[in-house]
Amino acid sequence: RIIQITFYLFLLHTNEKLKVANLKLERISLIDGLTLIENRRAFDIEYNKAWKISLREGMPLALIMIDIDRFKIFNDTYGHLSGDQALIRIAEVIKDVIKRPGDLAARYGGEEFVVMLMNTTANEAAAVAEEIRTSVEALRIESREIENVVTVSLGVASVVPDREMDSVWLIDDADRALYKAKAAGRNKVVVWG
Ligand code: GH3
Ligand code: MG
Ligand code: MG
Repeated sequence: RIIQITFYLFLLHTNEKLKVANLKLERISLIDGLTLIENRRAFDIEYNKAWKISLREGMPLALIMIDIDRFKIFNDTYGHLSGDQALIRIAEVIKDVIKRPGDLAARYGGEEFVVMLMNTTANEAAAVAEEIRTSVEALRIESREIENVVTVSLGVASVVPDREMDSVWLIDDADRALYKAKAAGRNKVVVWG
């Protein structure tokens, strides 16, 4: 009987430990391992929430897609470890510019970041994007093969969601704006529409 109770308590204890470990894992998997800002998964979750809130409240929701310019050449010139350091520093700059609660900065993919701004118009988001652009430039991360310093291109889009819209459309618009910024010569902010 004593053995049974001891074993039962042991199981309870193990179960608690597992729960704590799982919570930690869940937390860890929302953070990008390199830059320590939110990852794509965190963005997807928060974006869907923000879309629903904006739809209900009739508020504009803005996205800024950010892509490091000519980053392949940077890696080829200075090595992957220097590339990683550049990513970390640029992530920090982006995070520093984003201040309001409800705002989110995340690593979207390799050398791409996304910023989500609730209750924010395209013009307001463009101002934030421009601040990110100049702050990255001000890091003065040397890149002698190209423009002297590492820069980013940014695409901005904002919309007041309605029921006829799909939330991926806003992501597509920000992406298209980013593509235009690249085509226009890089180190630029382009607003969609
Ligand atoms: P563009 O201005 O058109 O964006 O040119 P690009 O060279 O930045 O674009 P491309 O897509 O050709 O290359 C992206 C590069 O980003 C290639 C890849 O090695 C690098 N990259 C992606 N993720 C990481 C990472 O985690 N660490 C490092 N060091 N480099 C990365
Ligand atoms: Mg890219
Ligand atoms: Mg790039």
